Amino acid sequence: MHQGLPSASHGIALGVRKMRRVYLDHNATTPVHPEVLEAMMPFFQDQFGNASSIHWAGREVKKHLDEAREKVAVPLNANPDEIIFTGCGTESDNMAIKGVALAFQEKGRHIITTRVEHHAVLHTCQFLEKMGWEVTYLSVDSEGLIDLEELRRSIKPQTVLITIMLANNETGTIFPVKEIGEIAWERGIIFHTDAVQGVGKLPIDLKKLPVNILSLSGHKINTPKGIGAQYIRKGTKLASLIHGGAQERNRRAGTENIPYIIGLGKACEIARRDAAKRQAHLLSLRDRLHRGISDRVPHVKLNGHATKRLPNTLNLSFLYIEGESLLLNLDLEGIAVSSGSACTSGALEPSHVLLAMGIPPEVAQSAIRFSLGLSNTEADVDYVVEVLPKIVQRLRYISPLYQKEVAALKRG
Ligand code: PLP
Repeated sequence: MHQGLPSASHGIALGVRKMRRVYLDHNATTPVHPEVLEAMMPFFQDQFGNASSIHWAGREVKKHLDEAREKVAVPLNANPDEIIFTGCGTESDNMAIKGVALAFQEKGRHIITTRVEHHAVLHTCQFLEKMGWEVTYLSVDSEGLIDLEELRRSIKPQTVLITIMLANNETGTIFPVKEIGEIAWERGIIFHTDAVQGVGKLPIDLKKLPVNILSLSGHKINTPKGIGAQYIRKGTKLASLIHGGAQERNRRAGTENIPYIIGLGKACEIARRDAAKRQAHLLSLRDRLHRGISDRVPHVKLNGHATKRLPNTLNLSFLYIEGESLLLNLDLEGIAVSSGSACTSGALEPSHVLLAMGIPPEVAQSAIRFSLGLSNTEADVDYVVEVLPKIVQRLRYISPLYQKEVAALKRG
């Protein structure tokens, strides 16, 4: 559908065999959109000025910097002066959480988050715990959603920040940020949402959502890696973490990364222009993939919410086998996906997100995340649906867990 976007799915010559390549890991990162690259190119050479310089070279670049800020603000229905450019989503999350913690430390040192946040949030909260802050990690149900009553009950007089993601990167489960924000605001608490996976995939209207700070990342929406942004609602008190020049209205010092900022502006402009087409495309491929796999492979379980889920994300557990083995076998067939497991001290640890959802460790360990993107086609999905069942069958054949199950069934 998106002509010109470098196909994430193409054949390459591998020895004598021409292998098809299908990239289904867009929640990890995305290819750069050709229009984004084209928009960035002049800013590496011709328009190289420093946006803070008052001569012609600086003034020209400053004009484009302002335009890019507006292009990021418009699809979010924010004001351009509420947008700050950062280096990545992780930096945006750090700036929000530590920035609020520092700004309000005299008022209180309690933060509320969930157990299923990205490590950019969880590890930042853990750092603050070591520094004397108290953090409440809300539990989630089997579909990955929090209980709003538990959130209400967790609020203390010293709570200064609620940080809860817009959509989960592993399961795609979408959080009720409007309701969460209302609860935060009723009690005068700052609400930050990590929207790294939501921006470009879901409509977001910050005039209607009670959100103080929102984090986003460029490389999830077809910019190069190394650019992010933060929305900070007018009037929100936040301490700066990077001190130096007066860039980004004193919120983040450092000479602006103009080519990448221009790229992010373009990516947001494209996301807005193509929003409806993009949503429909992703949703139809995701559901085709889900149907195709469910029709051909028994003992498959969906992880995440059935409907309140990102249009591009499908997380499935293939019972009785290791997600990691499945991932490696799919890789040999040219298919790139991700498993929830993380390698910690040489051992595979099941995903903290799936475990928090109450999924048994062996089921969590059998999970694979498929995340679709703009350049994927029906042919990509059909290739996966053709290849995957044979691999699952082979892995189950050698799986002691599966053989035990079959033997038990035979015994009746
Ligand atoms: N938050 C979420 C939900 C993410 O999925 C990611 C990246 O995967 C991040 C934060 C970090 O973003 P970045 O890679 O731009 O640092």
